[in-house]
Amino acid sequence: MITKSAAELVAALEAGEITSVELTRASLDRIRAVDEDVHAFLHVDAEGALAQAAASDARRAAGAPASLLDGIPIAVKDVLATSGLPTTCGSKILEGWIPPYDATVVAKLKAAGLPILGKTNMDEFAMGSSTEHSAYGPTRNPWDLDRIPGGSGGGSAAAVASYEAPLAIGTDTGGSIRQPGAVTGTVGVKPTYGGVSRYGLVAMANSLDQVGPVTRTVLDSALLHEVIGGHDPLDSTSIDQPLPSLVEAARQGAAGDLHGVRVGVIKELGGEASTISGWQPGVLARFQESLDLLVSAGAEVVEVSCPNFVHALATYYLVMPCEASSNLAKFDAMRYGLRVTPDGDPSAEDVMRASRDAGFGDEVKRRIILGTYALSSGYYDAYYGQAQKVRTLISRDFDAAFELADVLVSPTAPTTAFKLGEKLDDPLAMYLNDLATIPANLAGVPGISLPSGLADEDGLPAGFQILAPALADDRLYRVGAALEALLEKQWGGPLLAKAPTLETAR
Ligand code: GLN
Repeated sequence: MITKSAAELVAALEAGEITSVELTRASLDRIRAVDEDVHAFLHVDAEGALAQAAASDARRAAGAPASLLDGIPIAVKDVLATSGLPTTCGSKILEGWIPPYDATVVAKLKAAGLPILGKTNMDEFAMGSSTEHSAYGPTRNPWDLDRIPGGSGGGSAAAVASYEAPLAIGTDTGGSIRQPGAVTGTVGVKPTYGGVSRYGLVAMANSLDQVGPVTRTVLDSALLHEVIGGHDPLDSTSIDQPLPSLVEAARQGAAGDLHGVRVGVIKELGGEASTISGWQPGVLARFQESLDLLVSAGAEVVEVSCPNFVHALATYYLVMPCEASSNLAKFDAMRYGLRVTPDGDPSAEDVMRASRDAGFGDEVKRRIILGTYALSSGYYDAYYGQAQKVRTLISRDFDAAFELADVLVSPTAPTTAFKLGEKLDDPLAMYLNDLATIPANLAGVPGISLPSGLADEDGLPAGFQILAPALADDRLYRVGAALEALLEKQWGGPLLAKAPTLETAR
């Protein structure tokens, strides 16, 4: 039962073949069996999830399910506030903090009847690409426990990949939904900026952060996106427009006809004349094969150039730390979280300094220092101001490319999952993982990553990224579902079925 997609589980619930309590119990059993190794969860709420599942079964028995996904259990990244449940953001500074309120996304999940299994591991304050920056120890990739599951949302991706949860919620500031999806062989979606509420999401960089679905199939992401999306008056950047019909787009795509769809290959990101180096040959090979499949479904492939994308990483590593340094100032040991009181007669400033020194990890400190420096008077124009100008140029590259193509595509990440520890001492090598995902965050456009197969060198999953214009999230689902259907026909089933380590689950 645990290997089924959420859509299949919905059908089983509707047919009365299973109950939500049975399903939730199966997820909790699986977590108990494998999470000591995988470490996808920071906190499991068995009692709460089972109570929500029982309530769901009662609604269904009365013929009144709250939503399409009523009764399907879900895991939530530990960066979203959950009333009554710990929310740590993977940081010691928030250890033991229990929010008094739910993030809007969490409130929507509850209203839609999805039992919440627990909170998933992440790089501290969502800063990282491997989950190794979690203060609570890394998550491991279910394909190979010596490898990283991506980051910052490695916990959510690993929970879904290891069949601990059929669905999860992630957040993506520079790729933290899509890159973990790519390296774990799962599906992840970063919606249009403003398409899903950020209220109750502990901010890393407000102008880049976006909440989105983490699932095993494209259709499941569409189902979940429709539950969490939509306008929220509590978030001033939330878009007040109805969502396009995402589930319908996924179903249409799965039928396999892409005639009339123009697919733009971004020359600078894995295209044939790729100007950025470091792409793993097996990742590029799977990308080309997926492109050929899109052509076989009737899509027209064109090459587009986005010349400013080569500056995306540098731009991101100014804009993001500037916003983060300001956001993280609130962790001052006065309002919530850890308080360290030095000996003697410490001033408030002494307490803040000692608490922030003990509470934040190295990567967080590195970004606070960088952001504070870049924003300081005299440097603002040279760094932050310049970065904002380049950000505009990147948005214009997208505008021009979307004149020529309906969607843009690239490999999601330049390599497959690397070994734990491999890039821990080299922040720049770690940052390079996101070179293909960051442009979408800078421009606010939506993106999806889905598995494109296994790289020949190491037999590990590679990801295929599809990007669409703002508010055209439905295109991700149409093209993504078409590609997924064609690939699964070749593989004879989902890619995850090829993971030797997951054999025991089947
Ligand atoms: N890996 C990127 C970073 O470290 C992106 C993180 C994210 O999307 N939250 O900033």
